[in-house]
Amino acid sequence: MTDIDPSIRCDACPVMCYIKPGRTGACDRYANADGVLTRTDPHVFLGDTITAIGAGTTYPDYKPAPFIVSAQVEGVDMITVVTEGIFSYCGAKIKIDTDRHLGLERAAVRAGGEVVGHVTTAEYGSQMLSLGGVHHLTGSGKKSGRVTCETLLTLCNGGAVELSIENGATLIAQAGAAPIIDGVPEQKMRVGCGSATIGMFAQQWRGLVDEVVVVDDHITGVLSEHQAGKLLDIQETGIRIQGRRSTPGRYFEVAAPGTGWGGTDITEPRQILGPFDKDHARPGLTMLMVSTTGEHAGYFVLDKDLRPQPRAMPAPLADAVALIKDNCEPALCSVLFMAGAGGSLRSGVTQNPVRLTNAVAAAIVRVTCGGAPVYIWPGGGITFMVDVTKLPKNAFGYVPTPALVAPIEFTMPRTDYERLGGHMADVRPLAAVRGA
Ligand code: SF4
Repeated sequence: MTDIDPSIRCDACPVMCYIKPGRTGACDRYANADGVLTRTDPHVFLGDTITAIGAGTTYPDYKPAPFIVSAQVEGVDMITVVTEGIFSYCGAKIKIDTDRHLGLERAAVRAGGEVVGHVTTAEYGSQMLSLGGVHHLTGSGKKSGRVTCETLLTLCNGGAVELSIENGATLIAQAGAAPIIDGVPEQKMRVGCGSATIGMFAQQWRGLVDEVVVVDDHITGVLSEHQAGKLLDIQETGIRIQGRRSTPGRYFEVAAPGTGWGGTDITEPRQILGPFDKDHARPGLTMLMVSTTGEHAGYFVLDKDLRPQPRAMPAPLADAVALIKDNCEPALCSVLFMAGAGGSLRSGVTQNPVRLTNAVAAAIVRVTCGGAPVYIWPGGGITFMVDVTKLPKNAFGYVPTPALVAPIEFTMPRTDYERLGGHMADVRPLAAVRGA
């Protein structure tokens, strides 16, 4: 640098870029506009709500947040502190509505060949991924950190990413869109587990068929043995299931997980049946085998040797299968951004950071992310989660350290802000900020 160098230095993050006139810094969020350091995106207002999108960042944090705004809300003088936080400790939890097996728990998830996260515990009707986090962003090498940051940024800004799961599926994930698993868009999430499906639809099947098996990787249900079947007086059929019996009519581990029937690896449902018990079965006995989404279904009739043979499904039974399908919700990917705002970011809000944490925990201070409501984890710090589809598009940014930049707003009555040790001298009325 010399005295005549017209570059300016950005101090909004630890990278401290020198930015030439008319150019932007490494993150494209700040530019040198005629010698003035300028935030490149417009500051976003949602109606009368001020958000931190485009507000700018406070670094190295002891400075007051870029906007500390006062407004009258229903007669109460409220303060909103607005900043774009730089989050090294952040990631995304991805919920993928599908029964299909994507990969074993703890299997690595890759993007562009780099490990960016792992498969975590499945939820009811959904597979879950945990992506990002500080170890992938900063602790696994430069390339891995960059790819992790890019992947999180794309997902959080509503874009699609391709993820491959170790010894599992390849997946295209996008918030609010159907997941595409091994090239096939997922249509429906299951109505429930196999046992729940029996409970929900047993009444509709009565009189149409002697036996129903709902094939499910979690719990396969058998109508004649299930409590629902007992209460409806369904007779024993002599069926035998090759799986681990949990309680009557509910079986675990009938097959390996996969992308076939009900999240198992089977494509031929009779594979899970043992020989029928001669004391209860009879030739001509009818059986429906169906998956938990109704996507797979087969109708069988026992032959003289008590072996189930496929037959055309009677129309009333086909209607009952359609009812299962109709009750399944559309399969979607959901992306929750999760980050810790409990560190130095708090100093931009108050000179006494722990008071802010305590006030958030006590619900005196409302936290929002780009105007969207957040869930705050109990315990220490300000660790929050937000549904990225609730934010305006492209609300997230990044810095090359690497870390994500996310908007965050803290709103509270003026009296509380004073009590927390807020930066009172920097409070500006909303009208003045809007006009700025
Ligand atoms: S990366 Fe962006 S925020 Fe950080 S110093 Fe460079 S221009 Fe400023």
